Amino acid sequence: MRIRFLGTGGAEGIPSIGCKCAHCTRAREQGGRFLRRRSSVLFSLPGYELLLDTPPDIKEQLETSGIRQINGIYLTHEHNDHIAGLEEFLYWRQGVDLFAEPRLYRKLIRENWSRKLPDITFHLDIHPGIAVIFHNFSILPFEVHHAVPCFGLVLKEDHRRVVHGADSDIRFSNYARGVIAGADVLILNTPFFEPRKGKSHLSVQEAIDLKEELGIKRLVLTHFNHHNRPHDELEDYFSRFEGVTAAYDGLSIDV
Ligand SMILES: [Zn+2]
Ligand SMILES: [Zn+2]
Ligand SMILES: [Zn+2]
Repeated sequence: MRIRFLGTGGAEGIPSIGCKCAHCTRAREQGGRFLRRRSSVLFSLPGYELLLDTPPDIKEQLETSGIRQINGIYLTHEHNDHIAGLEEFLYWRQGVDLFAEPRLYRKLIRENWSRKLPDITFHLDIHPGIAVIFHNFSILPFEVHHAVPCFGLVLKEDHRRVVHGADSDIRFSNYARGVIAGADVLILNTPFFEPRKGKSHLSVQEAIDLKEELGIKRLVLTHFNHHNRPHDELEDYFSRFEGVTAAYDGLSIDV
């Protein structure tokens, strides 16, 4: 399985609009891994390219990564940084599966899409705890704790297990811990470095603690915002730990 990180920024991306902080200024001046578009991931499964989330800059992400094939889109939740780019698929000339929980799908139809969405996508309901089985891999959605209903997933291919925790906070259910435990790769959102009270996200520190607690082989962190440390400082910090990676736009991992 190949995992490509197309965007790795938090809701506002880096640089953040109009922001003059040191992190955003450096991103504008130096570019490269200091720039972060909003978060999305492409999973290359056998015969099936699965895109997780459609952020506002998805068109640019797909273009710069040279991606011309997507078989399915999995939407984790209704926040703008995860769904706002879905309308770009009005111009996508191949049929695409759309995995979305029923409530989110109804909301998209009602608020964004009138009747066009069913014309361009094949909607497939997802239900937490119920796997979608393909002949050589499976997708298991599970609910995580966030400001709105939010769904991570477990991708299983042969004996390998890759888990994406979507925009979860630290309160994982015992069931979620059970499906995450021992994963080959765990991808978590960490806008902040230090834990922040009242935020419905994880911090870098909390994610690393969870990796140790649940016996995760490799932890990849993403969804960083400009309040977090810049990429080079994150890389430097993670070099102290075994199997912890800071994602950047364009990172590709083979599992
Ligand atoms: Zn988000
Ligand atoms: Zn800033
Ligand atoms: Zn969110």
